[in-house]
Amino acid sequence: MIPLDEAQDYVLERVSQLPEEVVGITSARERVTAEAVTSGELVPPFDNTAVDGYALKAADTDGATESNEVTLEVIGTIPAGTQPDFEIKSGQSVKIMTGAPLPEGADAVVMVEWTRQDKSKDLVHLSRSAKRGDHIRRSGEDLCPGDQVIDKGTALTPAHIGLLAGLGIYQVNTIGRPTVGVFSTGDELVEGNEPLLPGQIRDSNRFSLVALLESDGFETIDLGLIPDNEEAIERTVREGVAKCDALITTGGVSMGDYDYVKVVLNNMGDMRWMQIAIKPAKPFAFGVVQGVPIFGLPGNPVSSMVSYLLLAKPALYKMMGRKSILPEVLHGIAADDFRRRVDGKTHFVRSFFNEEKGVTLLSPIGKQGSHQLSGMAEANTLSIIPDGDGVPKGNPIEYFRF
Ligand code: AMP
Ligand code: MG
Repeated sequence: MIPLDEAQDYVLERVSQLPEEVVGITSARERVTAEAVTSGELVPPFDNTAVDGYALKAADTDGATESNEVTLEVIGTIPAGTQPDFEIKSGQSVKIMTGAPLPEGADAVVMVEWTRQDKSKDLVHLSRSAKRGDHIRRSGEDLCPGDQVIDKGTALTPAHIGLLAGLGIYQVNTIGRPTVGVFSTGDELVEGNEPLLPGQIRDSNRFSLVALLESDGFETIDLGLIPDNEEAIERTVREGVAKCDALITTGGVSMGDYDYVKVVLNNMGDMRWMQIAIKPAKPFAFGVVQGVPIFGLPGNPVSSMVSYLLLAKPALYKMMGRKSILPEVLHGIAADDFRRRVDGKTHFVRSFFNEEKGVTLLSPIGKQGSHQLSGMAEANTLSIIPDGDGVPKGNPIEYFRF
């Protein structure tokens, strides 16, 4: 067995960042910027009001209260999207809508909530005074031309996408996003809701892995369910290598007689089969065929997910230009005993976290079998239990979220 970090290093040394690609912002979420983005404009582009109300001169409102209202003339209305062509003079105001440009002469806005308009006489009565600048959003207070908006190497979030659109930037230069082909192997596997024949089980790995990949921002291609047959596996690998930037396969990498994935990858490319000192997800194969990395994950449903999180996802993140690629190890307190025995492995225990008074409390969930996907579904964290006899209740514990 080799330590996990040795396996991770081995994989990460053999994958490289994808070429840059200019993409539309609507498909840029989760992609990493290949260069910094700079604003070419003022945001907001003009001084405008943050509220619906009356634009006026603050000095005219001095002393206004509910019992001593101040009255001003109303000389017009400014809806959002128009350009006022008048100037406010002392004693005057203008009704103004959120986002509308501030007229010349005005230096504050009083919210409509503190006003009563007398429409027949074009007057407004104010029950609050204003200070200069009240409720005014100044031109350029968000961004000015030349301001750096997004750093090189930033993973784009929905806020970044909106920011770019707000600047009229609809194309962005990013690192390529890996397209990952996924296939399952196993003669026992079926897809569909027909009653199972003796010995059969339904394929779940392809579905959980595609879902994981998509939630992590990768493109996926479902390469199907492949029998334990060298020719079929080889054909699928060839198809996958032609279409994808990386391949993930599950099953067929352990010690069984029909574990052909290892055999095929051995023949086709530079491949290493590992036994990693972790539980679950001990067997793992990694190879490169025609420049395309292939991750051979174990077949057990929980193992395949854990193996993805620890080994495949960091490599795919590296290909995509992400900076922080390994799962972020966090610190909490064991809310129950995490018992285990010495076996030379680090255990990743399916657990559940609760925040209590600023402390993260972790409890193991009941079903810990590597075939028990319901346990994985119940869990939201993997607690990291080093080799030994476990972590007793109340002790510090390391974990990561998934
Ligand atoms: P293997 O790694 O092929 O020896 O498979 C280990 C275990 O995982 C066996 O019990 C398989 O039946 C099960 N298994 C393999 N692939 C899948 C899959 N795609 N979905 C669900 N279970 C699987
Ligand atoms: Mg198998």
